Amino acid sequence: MKMKKIAVLGSTGSIGTQTLDIVSKNRDLQVVGLAAGSNITLLEEQIRTFHPLLAAVGDEEKAKELRERVRDTGCRVAGGMEGLLELAAMEESEILVTAIVGMIGIRPTIEGIKAGKDIALANKETLVTAGHIIMPLAKEYGVRILPVDSEHSAIFQSLNGEDVRTISKLLITASGGPFRGRKTGELADIRVEDALKHPNWAMGQKITIDSATLVNKGLEVMEAKWLFGVDLDRIQVVVQPQSVIHSMVEFIDGSIIAQLGTPDMRLPIQYALYGGERKFLDGARLDFAKLGSITFEDPDMETFRGLPLAMEASRRGGSMPTVFNAANEKAVALFLQRKIGFLDIYRIIEEAMKEHTVIPDPKVEEILQTEQEVYKRIESRW
Ligand code: NAD
Ligand code: MG
Repeated sequence: MKMKKIAVLGSTGSIGTQTLDIVSKNRDLQVVGLAAGSNITLLEEQIRTFHPLLAAVGDEEKAKELRERVRDTGCRVAGGMEGLLELAAMEESEILVTAIVGMIGIRPTIEGIKAGKDIALANKETLVTAGHIIMPLAKEYGVRILPVDSEHSAIFQSLNGEDVRTISKLLITASGGPFRGRKTGELADIRVEDALKHPNWAMGQKITIDSATLVNKGLEVMEAKWLFGVDLDRIQVVVQPQSVIHSMVEFIDGSIIAQLGTPDMRLPIQYALYGGERKFLDGARLDFAKLGSITFEDPDMETFRGLPLAMEASRRGGSMPTVFNAANEKAVALFLQRKIGFLDIYRIIEEAMKEHTVIPDPKVEEILQTEQEVYKRIESRW
């Protein structure tokens, strides 16, 4: 049996743990590397279950502690950004799953590509801010960027066997989030607990808030633009509250191909790990009679400004998507700390974008520098 060797960046998170679930159900998948931010209790458990050769921990102190704890296992432990980069490029892996959250994923993703790894990409922030670097680099090194995000996996699946030149548009579906139907006046007093209740998907905290603001959908539009090389005016967002159509492609003859299923991230994860090959997966099947109906509406862009602000950032291009993303990351952190209200998230993003002068075609250093500048400015004000 030919083994597929996998390294997981962000193994303790929502996507990371579901990736390991897929690995444990498939005997031809093997974990050779695991990395996490600070949850070394779970990471230790994962090391003892999956026996990787290398583990990396973002937090240096926690890395030291883990090194002591797993001394008996023979797993090497690396720390800090250096550790994440080492994990991304480790010789023994073939696929790097980028399940880390935020722009911290940029440098490890680049290292992975340069080391010839296929990338199973969940970390959308990396493509949003550095897509102009990542996509050409992947081409240069002959590696594949396999989407894990459910919408992008749906498009990837819908394009199976199709000529990409026959795409007329991409239709990205959205649940509309927990506050769909509300108007701005009804959003001011939203509590963190309410925003963390997604109607259909259980995900990490940051992306759950991003789903409530529609920032996530904005990030996904930009992600799709880079992944499939389709420009913004040929990407349409369609609200489909039951979350059973995961996205669609319309072709030049008017035909539309969609991918449907119950909301289960393990499906796109598995599809990416096998490079677009179908394998058995357990779990609930879609029952149309029980479902009754699938409904559609336009997104409310006036209320949920995360989407139009993202489109504007993408149109202005260069370093502007980085500003959009960095301001959102900071604003979401402040919201989760209960320091700002829900609507302040939009205010913070909008202000940051207004104050920024676009750097066209920014290099990685300029992207990371822009991120830091945006963080600092927001910190000094809020
Ligand atoms: P999460 O918060 O549940 O997990 C994040 C992971 O990243 C954790 O393992 C954490 O330890 C790790 N991490 C954070 N900071 C780190 C650091 N400094 N060094 C090393 N590791 C660090 O997040 P998630 O929901 O799994 O999302 C991960 C990515 O996948 C995000 O980009 C998100 O947008 C995307 N995504 C998630 C889902 C989902 O269903 N959760 C769906 C589509 C896309
Ligand atoms: Mg998604």
